[in-house]
Formats: sequence, structure tokens, C-alpha cells
Amino acid sequence: MRHRLLVPSLLASATLCLPGLAACSQGSDSSGPTTQAAETTGQSPSADKGADGGEDAKSGTASAKADDKDLEGKVIAVDPGHNGGNAKHPGEINRQVPDGRGGTKACNTTGTSTNSDYPEADFTWAVAKKLEKSLTEAGAEVVLSRKDNKGVGPCVDERGTFADDADLLVSIHANGSESSSVKGYHVIVADPGEDEKTEKASVDLAKSVGTSMGEEFTPNKAYGKDAISRRPDLAGLNNASVPAVIVECGEMRNPSEAELMESKSGQKKYADALFDGIVDWF
Ligand SMILES: [Zn+2]
Repeated sequence: MRHRLLVPSLLASATLCLPGLAACSQGSDSSGPTTQAAETTGQSPSADKGADGGEDAKSGTASAKADDKDLEGKVIAVDPGHNGGNAKHPGEINRQVPDGRGGTKACNTTGTSTNSDYPEADFTWAVAKKLEKSLTEAGAEVVLSRKDNKGVGPCVDERGTFADDADLLVSIHANGSESSSVKGYHVIVADPGEDEKTEKASVDLAKSVGTSMGEEFTPNKAYGKDAISRRPDLAGLNNASVPAVIVECGEMRNPSEAELMESKSGQKKYADALFDGIVDWF
């Protein structure tokens, strides 16, 4: 258990990045193995078009739930995919790290971007901070995988282990299918999971988050009827010992979804949808 960082009193309303832990200083990226498909860049289930995307989420519900303090005592790990400084440190993000399946894969990737060059790392960071705020207001302790959007890393293996004591882990990404017509979100779960119990909890979390996302955004059913896909190649998920999902919020090259992702109001909608899915899971 490498990183046990939860110091309740500190976490209560903050975000820890585990200083001293690799998580804060190393590579980056969220997902893993496939960096692309699901995690980072985006490909699609079948070829390489990506999928996922979203449209909007709600906000009233989140606020109402937050006021209720539904999450008192819960510890939630939030992983904003990639990092703002990854592109400037190719040597670091390309180094090989454990993929959680006996092999290795690149530490991280730069992630994708919209056609106007708005980076995935900026989007995931913005959504994560908004989600952190809502979760904290609802009484939860939030642990972030990185402390800002300027550095490099952590590597994908650490994206799964930075909060081993959390009740759940949500890794935030956006997909980068080449075709601008591809649209919609999808949720990814490790296949298999850490153990039977954790795997079932992860699938339930994916269903819960998928359902809340589906109330405001478009599901990409190319990944399954519920827009949930099971993958063995994502290091972040493979290395997680708590219920964990990667949420590919949408397609950054799809004009309508890109517009949402680049706007503060759109980012809030994504954060609210994730918040609702987390609350519902508990
Ligand atoms: Zn990504």
C-alpha cells in the first residue's frame, strides 16, 4: 500500500497530492495502458475513432445533495487525467512503468485536445476541481492525484494507487477520436478487477456514473449498450485496489462537446454529473 495518505483532518476539505509520493511528481496520465483508447487520446472501441462525449449535466441536484452532507465520512479519490506539463517532458512520460498485468507501459501521455488546441489536461483539471468542491461541500474527503496542472505525472500506475484507502476512485478523461462526428461519453472498468468484490463494486460504480452522465450527455454505445467498457490494458485501473472507473467524458474533436468542455458552465455540468453518480453509488 504504497500510498496511504489520508490524514483525515487534512483532507477534509482539501486535496492532497501526496507529496513525497510519486504521484505528485512523476508522470502523468490516467489511464494506462492504452493510453489512447481510453485514456488519453482516444480511440474507439473498434478502430480509432473515439467515443464518448457529453453534453451537459445538471447542477441543481448536485447542490441539493451537497447541502445534505450525504458523503460525510467518505474518502473519494479523483484523478484528473494527464498533466499540463507532460508535453514538455517526453523522456519522463515515455519511461516504462508497471501496467498492473505483468508488463509495462509508458508513464503517461500528453492527452488529446480540441480542434482549438484546448488540452485534455486542462479540461480534466477544471472538472476535477469543481467535483472536489462539490464533494467536499457534501462532507467527503477528497484526494487528488496531482496538486496542480503545471507539472508532469503521476505515471499511470500511480494513478491507481495514490489513495488506497479511498472508498472509490474516479479518473477523469476526454477522448480524442479523429472523426469529429464521433460523440458521447463512456465509462471504463478494469477486466478483471483487483478481486471479485472490488470488480463488482467498480462495475456498479460505472453503472451509477453512466446513468447520471446519461441524464445530460450522450452515451457512446459503440462501447456497449450502457456505454460501459471492460478493459485489461489500463494501468491506472489495473493497479487500483479500490472500486475504480475511468470516465471518458466526451469527444474533444466533436464541435458540440468541445464547446462544452472549453466552457466553465460545461465543465460544471460534467462535474455535477460525476458528483451525482458518486452519491448514487453510495
Ligand atoms: Zn486521457
